[in-house]
Amino acid sequence: MQHLLIGGITPFSTVDWPGKLACVAFLAGCPWRCPYCQNHQLQRFDAATATGEDLFAFLEQRRGLLDGVVFSGGEPLAQAATVEAAQRAREMGFEVGLHTCGGYPERLRQILPHLDWVGIDVKAPWDAYDRVTIVPGTGPLARESLQIVLDAGIPMEARTTWHPALLSPGDIATIGRDLATRGVRTWAVQAYRSQGTTGQLPDETVYPSDMPEGIAELFETFEFRRA
Ligand code: SF4
Repeated sequence: MQHLLIGGITPFSTVDWPGKLACVAFLAGCPWRCPYCQNHQLQRFDAATATGEDLFAFLEQRRGLLDGVVFSGGEPLAQAATVEAAQRAREMGFEVGLHTCGGYPERLRQILPHLDWVGIDVKAPWDAYDRVTIVPGTGPLARESLQIVLDAGIPMEARTTWHPALLSPGDIATIGRDLATRGVRTWAVQAYRSQGTTGQLPDETVYPSDMPEGIAELFETFEFRRA
């Protein structure tokens, strides 16, 4: 596990996996460049300050004190070693959650048997994805990843970060209808916050009253969050 590159570990969190007390491992590296990224330092693999061995030494001390561990980032599936780390954490008796942008469908298939919950980004209508990720060809990858999670039947939450310069209310309605049609039951819309970003977007945000009518009601669980 020396080869797992970790940018930071949050020892206790109640917000990164709804309903669970978990630690969060922020893995280094992400190939996408969303302008609202609040962990942009972690886009680089050389942002790592710890390894998998540090994480497992920490987990060893937390047996019985935490429900689980969340692999976040950066993009945790940008590293092949994340699959093995999830398996090992499970074998230690922890529940395992994953935050993913959906950019690595094949690796997602590999890690799914070791997961208890997935928080997956849905950043834009599929045909407008590159507007948010700034990298060509990302929409089909994210759509495939979402379908893999849904087909697995694992507990999950879809989440969409909303900056008014990147997504219109019509885009939010398009995303919401698509998710509901696919069978997503839990959706969180996260209002943009400038904290931790590179500041390349106008300092504007959105409010619950900006939600298009009738869209939140398509979901069993809907939350409008401050991101
Ligand atoms: S996918 Fe996530 S980690 Fe990567 S740039 Fe976008 S917001 Fe940041």
